[in-house]
Amino acid sequence: MDNDRIAENLISILGEDNVRRDEPMNVHTTFRIGGEADFFITPRTEEQILDVVTFLKKTDILYMIVGNGSNLLVNDAGFRGVIVELGDLFSGYEIVNMEGSGAVLVTAKAGMKLTRLGNELASKGIGGFEFATGIPGCIGGAVRMNAGAYGGEFSDIVVSVRVIDKDGLIRELSASELKYAYRTSIVARQDMIVLEARLKLLMGNPEEIRGRIKELARKRRQKQPLEYPSAGSTFKRPEGYFAAKLIEDAGLKGYSIGGAQVSDKHAGFVINKDGATAEDVCRLTEHIKKEVKEKYDVELELEIVKVGFQDSLKKEKMLR
Ligand SMILES: Cc1cc2nc3c(=O)[nH]c(=O)nc-3n(C[C@H](O)[C@H](O)[C@H](O)COP(=O)(O)OP(=O)(O)OC[C@H]3O[C@@H](n4cnc5c(N)ncnc54)[C@H](O)[C@@H]3O)c2cc1C
Repeated sequence: MDNDRIAENLISILGEDNVRRDEPMNVHTTFRIGGEADFFITPRTEEQILDVVTFLKKTDILYMIVGNGSNLLVNDAGFRGVIVELGDLFSGYEIVNMEGSGAVLVTAKAGMKLTRLGNELASKGIGGFEFATGIPGCIGGAVRMNAGAYGGEFSDIVVSVRVIDKDGLIRELSASELKYAYRTSIVARQDMIVLEARLKLLMGNPEEIRGRIKELARKRRQKQPLEYPSAGSTFKRPEGYFAAKLIEDAGLKGYSIGGAQVSDKHAGFVINKDGATAEDVCRLTEHIKKEVKEKYDVELELEIVKVGFQDSLKKEKMLR
């Protein structure tokens, strides 16, 4: 099917305002890197998401779900396919149940920003989400990759998740069915789409909860290069090591290729120091991997998700 026909179909499901063509992806990623996506669409309801996915599965065009783009490296050549953003237009939350025990169930849509959710819950005296409040992503991406920080991770709080599975069916998965592990879940392994997550949190004192959020934000500002665009930790933590320490010990802190640099504040972050291209970032991450392998015999694995590259395209195709 040609792109004009695809556009007609997407517009008939979503309306013109929610279908953009040739959309630059650098404005949709915290790395501020990436060429144009053929289509960038913003569904607002579960029904629209299902209709879009059902349609796209019948074509041979690639598609990818994104949230806030805070873990993505998009190729300079962009993405030949449809980027489906579940962000601000598919967000919101509900406090569904208050049990006598002090536990609270909160249902949040995939596009809900973690920072906004954490701050709003804090003002209502709902805690247990402090660890996630400084992560610049949305619920969907965080549930998928079991995002975590400062001793907490999503697997600690997720009770169940509503997803569209690989056959295009809506399902409810319990925490145990999510098969959580370090920075992964069945949602990632089977490329499901998160629609909504139910979280178990705790009532507490609003002032204390806000205080903890503030303290973690202070730690982040102190340790992380938040003054530059990045996609967070570049590599997963290799078993028994810390990626940042290996990179620093290999003498790579501050090392740069083109506009991409290993942050001299935190070696675990590759930053977009000065107009970096995706190619700069790839060359730099390959160099880091090679040096760390040679010096310490440890294989670093990217935590950042590559979009629109040959290796990621192969995976994206296999998952269709
Ligand atoms: C400054 C900075 C600090 C960070 N700190 C942390 C940290 O402390 N801990 C941490 O874990 N991460 C951290 N990150 C990384 C990132 O914020 C998290 O991985 C976050 O969970 C990604 O969410 P997102 O909405 O931005 O996802 P995106 O980057 O848009 O997407 C990431 C992946 O999730 C998938 N995805 C997105 N939405 C959905 C959905 N609805 N259904 C299915 N799949 C979906 C995408 O297809 C992609 O594979 C940091 C990033 C930055 C820039």
